Amino acid sequence: MKLISIVVPCYNEEEVLPLFYTEICKVMEQMRSEHADLAFELLFIDDGSRDRTLELLRDMSLKDARVRYVSFSRNFGKEAGMYAGLERSRGDYVVVMDADLQHPPAFLPQMYNYVKDGEYDCATTRRVSRQGESKLRSFFARAFYKLMNKISQTEIVDGAQDFRFMSRQMVDAILEMQEYNRFSKGIFSWVGFRTRYIEYENVERPAGTSSWSFWGLFRYSLEGIYAFSTAPLSLAALLGVLICVIAVLLLIVFAVKAIVVDDADLRFLAALCIITLLSGLQLFCTGILGQYLSKTYLESKHRPIYLSREDETMYRERMKDGNKS
Ligand code: UDP
Ligand code: MG
Repeated sequence: MKLISIVVPCYNEEEVLPLFYTEICKVMEQMRSEHADLAFELLFIDDGSRDRTLELLRDMSLKDARVRYVSFSRNFGKEAGMYAGLERSRGDYVVVMDADLQHPPAFLPQMYNYVKDGEYDCATTRRVSRQGESKLRSFFARAFYKLMNKISQTEIVDGAQDFRFMSRQMVDAILEMQEYNRFSKGIFSWVGFRTRYIEYENVERPAGTSSWSFWGLFRYSLEGIYAFSTAPLSLAALLGVLICVIAVLLLIVFAVKAIVVDDADLRFLAALCIITLLSGLQLFCTGILGQYLSKTYLESKHRPIYLSREDETMYRERMKDGNKS
């Protein structure tokens, strides 16, 4: 028997969760009819949802033995959710996918075909269109990928997603990366292994809303840069050198000018400009340094990536005890 774990991070997904469950059940049936040696577990991560997500999960776990879940003590973010899912998964293969059906379950049989013979360690989808997304958002997303691939040694593929079908070996490699500031797109690519991309058109959410605001995404892309590139640090140093050269040149120009034409106002203004420019740049560079320092600070605390409050075994025990008394 081969076990496939399907890891699904959920944050306020009460509206789509039932839809997702019906869809995934259909696909699991289909796959089992094609390959008799397959078994499944569904592992949902309730990322501190404030709606009825947890109740739905509890319900599902009582009715369906394949359903497992972990519920976090608060919202830790999708990265932590995926980590928890990988950590708790028991399968020979692990799938990570969103609950909102933007990662169509219908791809799973195809993905399994790529991975099952050991030809590939990972199958994943790549969005070739960003249909249904605002122009501004698409523009910034493209710019981010371009920049990222210039300044980082780790390749970040444009349109690549967190929808992955992975071998146990690759999952274990990912779990070895214990960093606290997690940026999955970089982590998946950093561990290497053979990845097969399946291209597809973007799908919109059937229900619920995306929890990513524009600023949220912007902050997330900065996280990505800080986590997988040290180029900004070199940028700071480079800027420093550049400014020094400019300052020396200006000094020479002004010194010569001051000797030729004697204009006190001009000299004063020029000095003011230079001082403002320099202090601005210094702050900018210190800021970059500070960002890396703060990341190092957080890493050095070795805080847990997530804290769980409840999982399906605890809940089933509780229900059993409740029924006895
Ligand atoms: N998600 C999560 N924790 C969060 C935010 C999102 O577990 O703090 C989950 C969410 O339930 C969904 C997936 O991550 O299954 C992707 O989220 P969303 O659809 O909001 O992102 P988008 O598709 O817009 O990138
Ligand atoms: Mg989504």
